[in-house]
Amino acid sequence: MNGSDWFKSFGTPSSAGTKVFSLSGDIVNRGIVEAPLGVTLRELIYDFGGGVKGGKHIGFIQTGGSAGTVLTDKFLDIPLDFASMKTNNVSIGSGVILVASEDVPLLPFLAEVAHFFWHESCGKCTPCREGTLQVKTIMDSLVNRTADPASLQRLGRLLNTLNDTSFCGLGQAAPLAFESALRNFPEVFDQALAESHVPETCQEET
Ligand code: SF4
Repeated sequence: MNGSDWFKSFGTPSSAGTKVFSLSGDIVNRGIVEAPLGVTLRELIYDFGGGVKGGKHIGFIQTGGSAGTVLTDKFLDIPLDFASMKTNNVSIGSGVILVASEDVPLLPFLAEVAHFFWHESCGKCTPCREGTLQVKTIMDSLVNRTADPASLQRLGRLLNTLNDTSFCGLGQAAPLAFESALRNFPEVFDQALAESHVPETCQEET
């Protein structure tokens, strides 16, 4: 209605205009906001969203939906424009901003994401059909502290294979949450591995 120049007056020179974001999770004001591209997570979460419920700290943020990146609060001040998101390995996808407070444990959350992709896989191609099952199995073992020492290497290989060889976008995008969580929260995975005790029957098999 107001023309392209008006629209381009919002956002940044390389990412003009606005985007609709969905604020969800442990956030005071859940809902939909339309903001200029280049807005930061801090502005979305604290200015529009009213902050984290109960005044808690942020535990993690997932941007872009289940097939999106899992981030620490170090990403709060990164402008959400296309160039900056690419440089900083942030995916915004559908515009979902899911905030988890410090009370939410990361690994069970990721296990739920793994269950989601395993459930949603249509089974047409082997990498996604078998890969999502194996990602789910490894995530469950990390949650249950029964992961074997090679779990994380296996998980890394699986995620690469899923991304490289899945037939459609579902399998190709499924690794993003896990890859970004491994990159941004390595200590959480390392701790789960350090606390794991492989059941004896499994040790005999491996
Ligand atoms: S990648 Fe796509 S086609 Fe292949 S099993 Fe998964 S959902 Fe089906």
